Amino acid sequence: MSHVSLYRKYRPDTFDKIVRQEHVVRILRNQIAQNAVGHAYLFTGPRGTGKTSVARIFARAVNCEHPQNGSPCGVCPTCLALAAGSLDISEIDAASNNGVAEMRELRDKVQYPPVTGRYKVYIVDEVHMLTDSAFNALLKTLEEPPAHVIFILATTEPQKIPATILSRCMRLDFKLIPEEDLEQHLRSILDELGKPYETEAVAAIARAGAGSDRDMLSIAEACIVYGEKLTYASVCAVLGAADFHETKKLVSAMLKGDTAGAIEALERILKEGKAVGVLLKDILQLLHRVTVAKTCKTAEALLALPHDLFEEVRSLAEEADGRAVLRATEILIRTENELRFVSSPRIALETAILRVSYPAGDRDVDALLVRMGQLEAQIKEAPRAAEPSKPAAPEPPKATQAAEVPAEEPDYDFPTEEPVFAEAYFSDGPAEPVPPPKPVAPPKPAAPKAEPSPKAEPVPQASEAPKDAKTAFGLFLRTLRKTSKSGVLFAMCYDLEASLEENTLVLTTASETIYTSLGREEHRKITQEVARLIGLEGVEIRIARPASAEKRDALEQLKKDFGDYPLDIK
Ligand SMILES: [Zn+2]
Repeated sequence: MSHVSLYRKYRPDTFDKIVRQEHVVRILRNQIAQNAVGHAYLFTGPRGTGKTSVARIFARAVNCEHPQNGSPCGVCPTCLALAAGSLDISEIDAASNNGVAEMRELRDKVQYPPVTGRYKVYIVDEVHMLTDSAFNALLKTLEEPPAHVIFILATTEPQKIPATILSRCMRLDFKLIPEEDLEQHLRSILDELGKPYETEAVAAIARAGAGSDRDMLSIAEACIVYGEKLTYASVCAVLGAADFHETKKLVSAMLKGDTAGAIEALERILKEGKAVGVLLKDILQLLHRVTVAKTCKTAEALLALPHDLFEEVRSLAEEADGRAVLRATEILIRTENELRFVSSPRIALETAILRVSYPAGDRDVDALLVRMGQLEAQIKEAPRAAEPSKPAAPEPPKATQAAEVPAEEPDYDFPTEEPVFAEAYFSDGPAEPVPPPKPVAPPKPAAPKAEPSPKAEPVPQASEAPKDAKTAFGLFLRTLRKTSKSGVLFAMCYDLEASLEENTLVLTTASETIYTSLGREEHRKITQEVARLIGLEGVEIRIARPASAEKRDALEQLKKDFGDYPLDIK
């Protein structure tokens, strides 16, 4: 016995069985009841929402001798003939028959009257795939259709249909199917099959269907053969959602400001072969669950998760700051929208995660509030702070300066702010929010970067080059941040390890993607320009990877790769 897919097996054969889309069904039913059907329809909407199914039911209903509430009766001679494969209903897949020849042939064929019923119905699927000349040939037919012909054009991309065609069709828009409706549909099918199931499992499949009945049923099919009972665990296994725990680690680290932990988790997940877009969706879904768990008393029922998973979500919600969750969600939603326009989705996601986990890089109010929350948490976590004078460290220079410098001048506030900035990111000192396991940090014996110039006096203008790596890189970052369109670049740069080697500022990153991206010409141009602005003329900027991450001799390779790019303007 050949296998019939669930979707085909349960393909609706009457309008009553169409999931959602009442607005479309009602119009078609009324037209049949009033004997006022049109000659050309355009069905538009996302895939798997029932366009072809409705077209087929409609095609049979207009021919049926005794339509039942607008649907074909299924028992009259015409219905039986059509079910047996009468030539009166033709389906054309425009994706494979998109030429002018096919459309001309169609034009000739429509002239012949129907064999069994009243109408010949042509269903043209994926009609946007037709070539221009094929559209023209089709238009000729649509302009003067024989009275016995009905065209139903179906497409997921109505914007690609010529206006001349559109204006001759009655357009009906199919909508994505809500999760509840998909769930209900799946439950009814499982009941009919006599398959036992867990409610959470059905909810998870409906969610994965993302508004498409066909997609949901093909996922369900894979899950059903997995075991005797349809369980949430089997659905997770089929959907590859078993790495909930990895995603949770990523989100937890990200919200705590543990950049290294977040990026490591990201690396692990992507290494497992998960696509960037899917991971982003997983992260957003988890953030959404955390929000619900944080705000709703009925969260457990709302989320329909198995109890142990829900407990994990709840613990994450308890430790997370609400503002941080909201800010993370906003940043990642923006990234999701941008994903289809970027050449490297991975860099986009990595940058977004860096931004979330490093609110200090953003100067907007949300970021500052999140940062405050993190600092508060740190203070609470360190009850016996060894040096209570630590947070007061940047004060002395401020005091000496306040008298002479207005706070407005950006170049002047550099020395007061920079120690905080630099300390947090380049030292392994106590100011680091969460001590990241820094797998990178190669001991750089050649770079005497631990010698900050002790002078706390204002840097006058960008004329004199900074003498040590920390200061140089701090100034580099601040200037980079001020130059326009450098948000992404800034986010990629802030976590770099800086060291000075003779006339080269070496910036080290453990991330291969950041390393590759910073080496690209457009990014190099900006970094060179920034270096010039801060007076690093004649100093080469080199992006490096830590020795531990390189299989070959890193230095030799880098010299080979970047030897042609000395930083020398004028
Ligand atoms: Zn009938």
